[in-house]
Amino acid sequence: MSALLEVSGISKTFDGFRAINNLSFSIGAAELRAVIGPNGAGKTTFMDIVTGKTRPDEGQVLWGPNSQSLLKMNEAQIARAGIGRKFQRPTVFEDQTVAENLTMALKAPRGPLDVLRWRPSAASAARVAELAAEVGLSEALPRRAGELSHGQKQWLEIGMLLASDPQLLLVDEPAAGMTLAERELTTTLLCRLAETRAVVVVEHDMDFVRRLNCRVTVLHQGAVLAEGSLDHVTRNPDVIEVYLGR
Ligand code: ADP
Repeated sequence: MSALLEVSGISKTFDGFRAINNLSFSIGAAELRAVIGPNGAGKTTFMDIVTGKTRPDEGQVLWGPNSQSLLKMNEAQIARAGIGRKFQRPTVFEDQTVAENLTMALKAPRGPLDVLRWRPSAASAARVAELAAEVGLSEALPRRAGELSHGQKQWLEIGMLLASDPQLLLVDEPAAGMTLAERELTTTLLCRLAETRAVVVVEHDMDFVRRLNCRVTVLHQGAVLAEGSLDHVTRNPDVIEVYLGR
């Protein structure tokens, strides 16, 4: 299987501190991957590099069947190329309904000209309903986003990201602050999304990672320390030492 995203030998130094150190990573087109690692391991910087927010000092980031270099694109171009990022805190429009939030997301991502040309239509209303169903919010369509639970807001934001049909979704700590029931629904949602696209989940919560039941990449000091099933990586003595503290 060829990779959808192929990151090879990237490094990034901030003020003399090597936050990313010759890191290589690849993910296939329909794959769920958890990225774990202690604070300061470089997880955020890694995602910043993939999404074009930060440029590496060296290395390659190649994307898609034609192995396009993401290093030649800016953040907006990378988003349009099919990479969506969900930050830890949900950023939805609290005063707007779920339907309005999703409609806005359909309108927004394609570039300034498209926003001007965009008009609501039967097709867009159907797509909004479809997006809401995909993230389990069909019943909540007329509700104000501000009234939703924390978990529902997270799902709404994922629905908004899906509006631009990303091929790779980067999701930062989706389970943080969620109830047990919400975490279970989030697990199901992420696993389902990864049937048709690549999903990278950065997560601290090992119990949640276990539920995801996917390949895990452990970062430490800006490099990949171990990769494999959660059982495999948590048996690795280096991982036990640096991450689990045992
Ligand atoms: P993680 O997300 O795994 O906690 P980060 O990628 O946020 O790790 O950070 C990795 C290291 O790089 C940390 O030591 C952090 O202090 C440093 N770092 C990240 N961004 C910057 C920056 N803009 N300037 C200076 N140091 C940074």
